Amino acid sequence: MFRQGGAAIVLGTIGAKAAAAPNPTKLPKLLAPTENEPDPPPPPEPSGKRVGYAIVGLGHLALGEILPAFGESKHCRPAALVSGDRAKAAAVAAHYGIDARHIYDYKTFDRLHDDPDVDVVYVVLPNGLHAEYTIRAAQLGKHVLCEKPMANTVAECNQMIAACSKAQRKLMIAYRLQYEPYNREAIRLARSGDLGKLKAFGARNGQTQGDPKQWRLKKALAGGGALVDLGIYCINAARYLSGEEPIEVAAFIHSTANDPRFSEVEEQVDFLMQFPSGMQAACSTSYGYHDSKRFRLSGEAAWLELDPAFPYRGQQLRIGRKPASGEGEAIETRVLGPKNHFALEMDHFARCVRENRRPHTPGEEGMQDMKIISALYEAAGSRRAVRLPAADRLDAFRGDSV
Ligand code: NAD
Repeated sequence: MFRQGGAAIVLGTIGAKAAAAPNPTKLPKLLAPTENEPDPPPPPEPSGKRVGYAIVGLGHLALGEILPAFGESKHCRPAALVSGDRAKAAAVAAHYGIDARHIYDYKTFDRLHDDPDVDVVYVVLPNGLHAEYTIRAAQLGKHVLCEKPMANTVAECNQMIAACSKAQRKLMIAYRLQYEPYNREAIRLARSGDLGKLKAFGARNGQTQGDPKQWRLKKALAGGGALVDLGIYCINAARYLSGEEPIEVAAFIHSTANDPRFSEVEEQVDFLMQFPSGMQAACSTSYGYHDSKRFRLSGEAAWLELDPAFPYRGQQLRIGRKPASGEGEAIETRVLGPKNHFALEMDHFARCVRENRRPHTPGEEGMQDMKIISALYEAAGSRRAVRLPAADRLDAFRGDSV
């Protein structure tokens, strides 16, 4: 007998004699009966049974993070590639053991319809193309995992949700941090009451952007500047830590004059968000300052800090509170086993597809960030605070638990 996914599986036994024969998958014990032997991990899921992903767009994220993450996934496999560069796609396909029959380009994208190996289309294109490829993938009968930000506009988000709903396909936005252990531990602590009443959230997500010709600096492909690309992490974190939705926002935008990088999109946005419980968030995002990717959540009784909070790896969690002795501040560093963010999010979506569950970060979660971003641009443009509709419950736009 061996265990698979918690279920015990009995290997074939033929008659009483065969039942008594030694199980070929079970090796004889080495330790004395007085010792405990740890349960072995379950065998990996066979490749043919995994949920097949088509990766659309072979850029930095797809090649540097997503494709390597399949090696750490439990339930997914790379099944197809979509790229405008055939030679690159062929080299990547060979590396990941994808047959050349499963290579598509943007003109042959619709042939994914007839590819039974593909269950999920993962859209890893510039933001301005997310809506088109999500809608087309749903119409081809595929489930869609779409990178953040969900789209360029709230109207596009609505169209993506409607298309997936009409095709009865699942849509998840790839908010990897809502699946990784450090941010999940921060969520658990924030919701546990351990910090006391939540009062203030401060976050900063910035990096210096280089090449002025890249799509991230073109309005049509990016939708906006630092706010949509990096500031979205601060917005999403304030929401997932508290479970609340902001009811009022204010913002200031600054772009360095005559800098060719910021002729179409903004450089820096500093913004405030007020939440119904009274928690206030002060955030800063920029394409103009050196790497800074952190947040601190302050409650009445304690604070927690993730610094860094937002990168693909290397999260560090600290908690500060008054020590039992009553003097000074006790700062605890909590160390957790790091996990691959992309493997976790892809495995979550694979389980949702198989078990017909609602993804934890569905299209509605992505659309809510876009509504807040749109309100922030309006606030900055009008130099006035902008109100947002109140949510009727915590985690109003999230799906099933992780
Ligand atoms: P990238 O520029 O490195 O890759 C984009 C790919 O799209 C390229 O291979 C490019 O050839 C292709 N493409 C197809 N049509 C294009 C067109 N008309 N114009 C430009 N490129 C076109 O970008 P990236 O950094 O891989 O980002 C892709 C998506 O992933 C973006 O939506 C981005 O916001 C998101 N992203 C998410 C994370 C995360 O942590 N979840 C991190 C980085 C990027």
